[in-house]
Amino acid sequence: MYQRIIDCSDAQLLERQLAELREHIAADEGDRPAMLFRILNATLDFGANDIMVSAIRRHFPEAPYMGCTTHANIVHGELLKGKGAISIVCDVFEDPDTRVEILQLPLDYECQEKTAQTLLDTLAAHPEIKAVEMLNTVETADMPTFCRSVSAAPEGVVMFGGGALDANSDFNNVVVFSSDGPATDRGIVFALYSGENFHAQVMLVQGWKPLGMPFHITRAERMTLQELNGRPAIEVYNHYLHITDDDNFLQNALCFPISIDVEGTLVLRTPISANPDGSITLPTDVTGITGDCRIAYGDPIAILDSVQDSVREIREFRPQALLAFSCVGRLLYWGHDYAACETHPFQALAPIAGFYSGGELIRLGRNFINHTLSLVVVGLREGDPDPNASLPHINEPTPMAMNLQLSLVGRMASFIGAAAEELQEAYERMDAIARTDGLTGLANRREIEAAVIRAVKVHESTARGAKAAADGSALAPVLVMLDLDYFKRVNDEHGHEAGDEVLRRLAELFRHELEQLESQAIAGRWGGEEFMVLMPSSTLEEAKNFAERLREDFSAINFGEMGHHTMSVGAAQMHGGDTSDSLCSRVDDILYQAKDRGRNCVVVDRG
Ligand code: GH3
Ligand code: MG
Ligand code: MG
Repeated sequence: MYQRIIDCSDAQLLERQLAELREHIAADEGDRPAMLFRILNATLDFGANDIMVSAIRRHFPEAPYMGCTTHANIVHGELLKGKGAISIVCDVFEDPDTRVEILQLPLDYECQEKTAQTLLDTLAAHPEIKAVEMLNTVETADMPTFCRSVSAAPEGVVMFGGGALDANSDFNNVVVFSSDGPATDRGIVFALYSGENFHAQVMLVQGWKPLGMPFHITRAERMTLQELNGRPAIEVYNHYLHITDDDNFLQNALCFPISIDVEGTLVLRTPISANPDGSITLPTDVTGITGDCRIAYGDPIAILDSVQDSVREIREFRPQALLAFSCVGRLLYWGHDYAACETHPFQALAPIAGFYSGGELIRLGRNFINHTLSLVVVGLREGDPDPNASLPHINEPTPMAMNLQLSLVGRMASFIGAAAEELQEAYERMDAIARTDGLTGLANRREIEAAVIRAVKVHESTARGAKAAADGSALAPVLVMLDLDYFKRVNDEHGHEAGDEVLRRLAELFRHELEQLESQAIAGRWGGEEFMVLMPSSTLEEAKNFAERLREDFSAINFGEMGHHTMSVGAAQMHGGDTSDSLCSRVDDILYQAKDRGRNCVVVDRG
């Protein structure tokens, strides 16, 4: 295969190149090869699309084409500058087995699922399809359902593409069109590639690195990130980066996008705008993205390093043609003069063409994700590479206007990252200490009290749910409380240290017994030689058996000189109307009944 990037700046020139291409193909032996024309229009003039289509049609009446409006185009690895920028990128496949079919479908927020399903059905009906290229419009890059659904495509189908945009980055002024349908501002065009000898490889280039400590996404809805760590999202940008909601917000935030780990893939989301309520608008849906995010930083040297790594990696694939779908955010980040520094290096491998998009589509593993702030590079090839041919030489990145100051940014960021990581670890250690009883290693009183409060709350809400479901049978939490018998004597006769040893052995026994239980029970030290066990998902009967076992096993332990010891145990289950306090004080009363009955026994509160 080979790629022709057709210069459309002049009508006569365009005509001449198409005629030459036609002659070139006609001169080739026999079969007409499969072709694909991509029309990339960054001119703001929709009429230009029709002119390009009719020019192509005059020479290649049956060739499939797809096109879209773009923010700007990449040709031969360079940014195609100036208004009037329109490009035709033509792939010619020489292997008679290679086929490209075009499928155009509607796409908007409401019909995402249906369109994804049609694609999946098509792939199921045509297992020979190896790769899918996509050009899409959506009023924004907001299409989570489409992406999730498409991830179910057969393993191994390579997928990539980009979202249409216009030269003013206006999502509302975009179209896609193709040989399978008219121009639409709510659609997606698929190019379906098949062929025994056709190969495609995708590459995700990012370069931005997560920085500092994680923030928890506490509130988000569609494209609005409302709260991080329970506070308005903008506060993170204000407080840590001094980025405020002014005219420069987008440009400033570009260096510090939100980064989210989606099943091992880093996803970057640049805040587009800050809103009066303190929320931040992101370019894609974040509903359902739970867990932590970080602020990432863009250091030019780190970004160029990642470009270089990607060039080296895709060189192994030995592409004959390359496609680039790069985020408009990257063009904003570098500026028009430097943007080519991250696409030009690929040109050493094969001609590279593409555009600046409003969302880059790539499938890695099974996961199909709509990225932003990324550069998706796709290698295309027919046949097997000659293993003896030497790999193309790659130039080292040009230092351009960068100087030491910029790598200083990288070093500062790595300092902050390492420091934040150490602080996070220290925090986690202290947090664990704050929850743990020092002598026994069990949960401390505060921790077990909090667990009881949570269990009572959870039960109240599930019991309400169960009542509504008319069975009312949700298990109420059970508390088991115990106190060692005549423990004062141990201390008096053998010393405090010996008493401590007994408590540690008891804790070991707890851990052992709880492991056997396979429930979410937790044991804590209530104070002195009193212990509390919370069993949130056990019946009173199960709790009683557990208590009996514990009592027996403990009394069987031979403490040598100290002989054997015993415990008294009470167990009670939460009733309707119980608070955590009333439940705890009830089990305490039951425990004292056990003491009254002569100790070394289990008493259960039968209500
Ligand atoms: P009973 O509970 O059977 O009525 O008698 P008891 O002697 O165990 O009485 P009580 O529970 O009131 O006494 C608790 C004793 O446990 C007091 C103290 O000597 C001992 N104790 C409490 N905490 C610790 C501890 O951390 N280490 C040691 N070695 N002893 C403790
Ligand atoms: Mg006691
Ligand atoms: Mg006691």
